[in-house]
Amino acid sequence: SPIMREKLLRRSLQLRNQQSTWQESLDGQKMIEFRKSLPSYKEKEALLQAISLNQVVVISGETGCGKTTQLPQYVLESEIDAARGATCSIICTQPRRISAMTVAERVAAERGEKLGESVGYKVRLEGIKGRDTRILFCTTGILLRRLLVDRSLKGVTHVFVDEIHERGMNEDFLLIVLKDLLPRRPELKLILMSATLNAELFSSYFAGAPMVHIPGFTYPVRTHFLENILEITGHRLTPYNQIDDYGQEKSWKMQKQALRKRKSQIASSVEEALEAADFRDYSSRTRESLACWNPDSIGFNLIESVLVHICQKERPGAILVFMTGWDDINSLKEQLQSHPILGDPIKVLILPCHGSMASSEQRLIFDKPENGARKIVLATNMAETSITINDVIFVVDCGKAKETSYDALNNTPCLLPTWISKASARQRRGRAGRVQPGECYHLYPRCVYEVFSDYQLPELQRTPLQSLCLQIKILRLGSISEFLSRALQSPEALSVQNAIEYLKVIGALDEEEELTILGRHLAILPVEPKLGKMLIFGAIFKCLDPILTVVAGLSVRDPFLTPFDKRDLADSAKSQFSCQDYSDHLALIRAYEGWKDAEKARTGYEYCWKNFLSPQTLKAIYSLRNQFHFLLKDTGLVDESIAPCNIWYRDENLVRAVICAGLFPGICSVVNKERSITLKTMEDGQVMLYSSSVNGKETKIPYPWLVFNEKVKVNSVFLRDSTAVSDSILLLFGGKICRGGLDGHLKMLAGYLEFFMKPELAYTYVTLKKELEELILN
Ligand code: ADP
Ligand code: MG
Repeated sequence: SPIMREKLLRRSLQLRNQQSTWQESLDGQKMIEFRKSLPSYKEKEALLQAISLNQVVVISGETGCGKTTQLPQYVLESEIDAARGATCSIICTQPRRISAMTVAERVAAERGEKLGESVGYKVRLEGIKGRDTRILFCTTGILLRRLLVDRSLKGVTHVFVDEIHERGMNEDFLLIVLKDLLPRRPELKLILMSATLNAELFSSYFAGAPMVHIPGFTYPVRTHFLENILEITGHRLTPYNQIDDYGQEKSWKMQKQALRKRKSQIASSVEEALEAADFRDYSSRTRESLACWNPDSIGFNLIESVLVHICQKERPGAILVFMTGWDDINSLKEQLQSHPILGDPIKVLILPCHGSMASSEQRLIFDKPENGARKIVLATNMAETSITINDVIFVVDCGKAKETSYDALNNTPCLLPTWISKASARQRRGRAGRVQPGECYHLYPRCVYEVFSDYQLPELQRTPLQSLCLQIKILRLGSISEFLSRALQSPEALSVQNAIEYLKVIGALDEEEELTILGRHLAILPVEPKLGKMLIFGAIFKCLDPILTVVAGLSVRDPFLTPFDKRDLADSAKSQFSCQDYSDHLALIRAYEGWKDAEKARTGYEYCWKNFLSPQTLKAIYSLRNQFHFLLKDTGLVDESIAPCNIWYRDENLVRAVICAGLFPGICSVVNKERSITLKTMEDGQVMLYSSSVNGKETKIPYPWLVFNEKVKVNSVFLRDSTAVSDSILLLFGGKICRGGLDGHLKMLAGYLEFFMKPELAYTYVTLKKELEELILN
């Protein structure tokens, strides 16, 4: 209507005045100076033009060149300048919560505003956003959730999808949905942003959308491969004396035998080492056969040699070492600290770097050491793009990263160190050239680098797809398999089938692959299906309070700390919470409740210190609990008049049963032997427990089953967090409750019982079934 239009125009003019007032202020001027120094600024006009002329644009540029903070701002500023400020609405997605929040804060500061004015953010269960918010930074998951209620993104003018090069599952999923949406919303602009140069892939997915590259501003980095490193350092290779559990299994099992024979052999050159590893025929080398070239078998000694070389012979500057995981980082740190040169704490500062570190420790990583000591940061691949340490000049790259993958055949997630991609290697190298020319040491020969795959496998092809399948159903996107076949790179048919099968088993999908009532709830709750099911059962069976703690704990991280050098102490502190009930989840509940009491008495920190608990994690659990409780009220299953704590609160077996309802079919059978326990799952055969589990050190578990939250294949299959359950709990709570009777439920459970050879249970079953049927029929 004309009145409305008038109003919007007035508002737009207001916004324009505000913006120019800030830009003319002293602080605003300073900010503009800074922003002009970023490489993206030179491309500003070209970028804006590409965006205005095309519906889809693909933009690439080095980390730090100003994509995330600048591009959405350029669009907003130009819209405001054109007096369209009040009608423009920009969404920019981020793969991680933390980046959505920090980036929003930064952009607001660059605009001289507080969060919630023209710039806001929204992540799971949290957000700051006002009526006038024009740029919203959100996680990709949040945008997917919005599509649930707002299928055509009404009112949105620009969607930026950031960090698409990471090929995260949500981003790939979002791209399929947006691709379908674009023809229905011709005026909607889609801008894809990526750090590395695989822009062609995305461009061709969107019918040849134009690409704009922002030239980088990194300094040249001199690259050394292993050949060269051996020459510089005089290090001798001893590749076959410590073959450990690394590498890709299929090939390395065979190789292990062959390599064992050559155990004593010492190779003095790369050629020799390659030859010994049957690498002579270079042309037949595949990514898989690379497993024989094992940098870890070279051991930490090579890394040590390189570090000594840099410390003694090279100019000052920080060193960043890329390792595979936390354990490696800690063992290397120990080894280095006992070295005569590197272990001198006055001259060398060795800092491990890990995502879950305390923020005071994190700050040390970014600071320049005051006494001019040499800083050595030992990091995992999170230092590739997520964080930037400005004074790094030397990078040491071991060539591997722990990657989650998914073994569809055995339906098991794996976490194995695998070779990185060329793109990752390039990214790691680039970290050395942020502030001045740098050096990068790749601890593998050039010929090995040359057979790295170009890019990492997309997440869609290496993770379980259960939550994704629920999303597809609730967004009414049709058949799951058909929809996923339209992805940039589709997942294996078998892993799609596994996910659908799982959802049927837990009762989220019916036989026709349609959502059940339970499935509908699970699709909306922002947690994994099994945790959602636990919450819903907790609400129905009125033991929500302890279940809220379990679910919050499982969806944040474990509050029990296991410091590397105090593992035994930490494990025994944890086992004090178990009270002989054979459950990590019940132990978590007790630890949390103890903390709540301690907090009331103002002794929370002492309590955490004494019991190896993380106060930050416990606080996160506290706030997540409240948020989940709030969300559950929407389902109508929770009586709002009662606090979550209620009469059933202390019934431990009921809590056990609800945990079982959520975690089924994650079950394994327990067979107690003389002095040990044998655990088996249907898919994997024998499995192990992590020693940090309260069940991990038991010699007898007086229950026939364990339900578990997660299993991970490292070399054997390991179970994380488990709870022991009885036969009757499994019978009544394992599996789905079918609408048409108990038949399906019983058939499936009978399958499990048969497998685990418990005929007497099968008998109980039949009786139970008859009784129940009679009950229902009458
Ligand atoms: P990209 O998305 O291309 O990786 P960003 O837009 O995130 O780059 O950042 C561009 C530049 O802005 C960075 O190189 C850095 O100098 C600066 N910057 C980004 N975030 C912050 C922040 N929170 N505080 C100060 N400077 C920042
Ligand atoms: Mg960015």
